[in-house]
Amino acid sequence: MQELMFLGLFVVALAIGWYLGRREAIKVGFMLKPHGSALDRQYFIGLNYLLNEQPDEAIETFIRALEVNPETVETHIAIGKLFCQRGDVERAIKVHQNLLARPNLSREQADHVQLELARDYLAVGMDHRAERLLEELVEVRSPLREEALVDLVKVYEREHDWRRAIQVGDKLLRERAAFSVTLAHYYCESAQLPLKNNELPQARSLLKQALEIDPQCIRALLLLAELEMDQGQARDGARWLQRLADTDSDFVPQALPLIRRCADNAALNVPLFLDQVIAASAYPPMPVILAKADEMRASASLSEISQFVLGHIQQRPSLRGLLYLIDLHSDHVDARGRDNLLILRSIVEALITGKPAFRCSACGFSAKRLHWQCPTCHGWSTIRPLKGSETA
Ligand SMILES: [Zn+2]
Repeated sequence: MQELMFLGLFVVALAIGWYLGRREAIKVGFMLKPHGSALDRQYFIGLNYLLNEQPDEAIETFIRALEVNPETVETHIAIGKLFCQRGDVERAIKVHQNLLARPNLSREQADHVQLELARDYLAVGMDHRAERLLEELVEVRSPLREEALVDLVKVYEREHDWRRAIQVGDKLLRERAAFSVTLAHYYCESAQLPLKNNELPQARSLLKQALEIDPQCIRALLLLAELEMDQGQARDGARWLQRLADTDSDFVPQALPLIRRCADNAALNVPLFLDQVIAASAYPPMPVILAKADEMRASASLSEISQFVLGHIQQRPSLRGLLYLIDLHSDHVDARGRDNLLILRSIVEALITGKPAFRCSACGFSAKRLHWQCPTCHGWSTIRPLKGSETA
């Protein structure tokens, strides 16, 4: 089916191209004979191949028939693109290389072909060749510079060459403000090695640069909080955690281990912190509610804790919340009641098992753990915690 669609598109593209080529030839004074010219013959030979279900031969013949002139360049580019999308990259490269070798292309057309050729190379993993072509487009300040920067940054991202990804990303940011989210992650990525080697001033500086570029970067806030806690600077760590909660309370569950460490160092009033997070959101994250319930155990009665958790579960059903309530009550019922609760517990646990806790807002990919970059669509910061019963 796809093959048929491809061939259909292909024939239409070629027919238009052939017509334009003919018109151009007429315009410049090389009138083709209406019947029997070499061009006509090749075109009909190609059609014959197509009808005989020999698409490869048909394609070769059509390309030979389609003269390269200023009006058919775009058709040639489109043909190459179709080959590339179809996975026939070798042929796409041939078409684009052949075009690029033509001396009569305008500057804009040559840039367009160069960009497509770079994309062909990327599709077959010939990154170094692609890099060279893309860098040229960036340097000559082509109108396609922004597109070239987008492709180039992806090459460095794929190679995990974060230094060069940042260099190119800085240029791209000037053209595309929304790139700040991705660029901040590049800074976080480049902070990983200094963090591992205990080169903390360098790591701290990179993470702060990430926040300058994207003040909402949760990852940088988490890493800075952890870095300061590891350095014994619990109060600085607590400040980063407070900023994280103010930025996006849905990610506070990711910071709960650090929040508990702050409590051990008396750097954070944890009950107050949790109260603020809960009060600030119509549907606070369930792990935060349960952390608050844990805090209440020291002073509140069983009934008060139950009412608190139940109040939130009624607003937004949560299997994790239900499990918490079962555990809370199982020590306070008789043997028969405990047996019943254990059965209920095993059912709820079975429902929780295998449920994703995170989902990508761009492509719908779901996962049990947080990925800063979606493994499917490769978007950065597109994966968010799920809330309610879906998340367990
Ligand atoms: Zn995705």
